[in-house]
Amino acid sequence: MNSTLLKHAGPGVLSLEAYSPGMPIDELQRRLGVGNAIKLASNENPLGTSAKVREAIAQTVSGSDFARYPDGSGHRLKQKIAQMQAIEPSRITLGNGSNDIIELLGRVFLGPDRAAMFSAHAFAVYPIIAQAQSARAVVVPARPADDEQPYGHDLAAFARELKANPDVALIFIANPNNPTGTWLNAADLEAFLAQVPSDVIVALDEAYDEYMDPALRGDTRAWLDRFPNLIVFRTFSKAYGLAALRVGYSLSSPELADVLNRVRQPFNNNSLALLAAEVALEDQDFVQRSVELNTRERARLTEALQGMGLTVLPSQANFLAVGFGRDAKPIHQGLLERGVIVRPVASYELPQFIRVSIGTEAENDRFIAALKEVLAA
Ligand SMILES: *Cc1c(COP(=O)(O)O)cnc(C)c1O
Repeated sequence: MNSTLLKHAGPGVLSLEAYSPGMPIDELQRRLGVGNAIKLASNENPLGTSAKVREAIAQTVSGSDFARYPDGSGHRLKQKIAQMQAIEPSRITLGNGSNDIIELLGRVFLGPDRAAMFSAHAFAVYPIIAQAQSARAVVVPARPADDEQPYGHDLAAFARELKANPDVALIFIANPNNPTGTWLNAADLEAFLAQVPSDVIVALDEAYDEYMDPALRGDTRAWLDRFPNLIVFRTFSKAYGLAALRVGYSLSSPELADVLNRVRQPFNNNSLALLAAEVALEDQDFVQRSVELNTRERARLTEALQGMGLTVLPSQANFLAVGFGRDAKPIHQGLLERGVIVRPVASYELPQFIRVSIGTEAENDRFIAALKEVLAA
């Protein structure tokens, strides 16, 4: 190896491990020769993409050329989001997936002399961004396994760690959290926000917000007016069924939106993605059907898995974390061999769990049947 080649690479980057995504169906076919597989590994929408969006894209593709740059300001999409969220367009930032928003936050607020804070067992992208910026990570211990929100975010511990670590510049909170599915009590979250110094940014990741019981949701829109250091971000990748097109957005104070805009790639959303998101926002029927399917099947799958004597973490998202009380790796492998792709979560320090996305009724039946086979083998 050339020892000088990477001499000037960021110190955090050199020890970084790349994000490992859920296995694509094609790859299972290539690697194990298993055909007819189903993927319940990346929390995608099992209903696919709304027919209205597919139609709009098809019409656009046949009727236009792609020689012109897209609208770098995402004007029309921002107008639609602004209307829906009752917020000024100047407080919206569009991202190439909400992953892009996380990255913009890292670039603005993290560096070698600052720290990012997030929970143990939280979304893998937070530690990656922190380390890529050579920032310190303050990992807050999660709630215990026998808590009502097992392995969930512990806001009291967040508050303690914040006092003990004055270099924290950015706090990530996922509600509900991936990969646990656990959620935060809205009043607790609001009380926590009120304790955070105004120069510490709180990034509230609501990727699964649509799937939450409305009675459990906080009034994040009102919090945004009270807390200028709060930034809330959402995605079109899950309930809106547009994961492949990469669109997410954040809501914040105009000051925060302004600094993110300064480091943003000028054309971070392509024209088809912008169009798809605009049409998807208008098709709330599709979102509602997706959420209803998820709520129904999440309950059914939970019951079936508990009936098999397995641990199922409470979830307000579109996936379940399932615990086996032993190393889950052979179970993951056994499912792969039967054409069912789920997500191992050992890298989230949950080696005895897998994460399974809620699929269609038929997909969930197939998952349960395959899992019964694997456990009996
Ligand atoms: C899926 C997910 C996202 C969204 O990712 P995109 O980049 O918008 O596709 C963000 N946060 C969490 C916790 C997620 O699970």
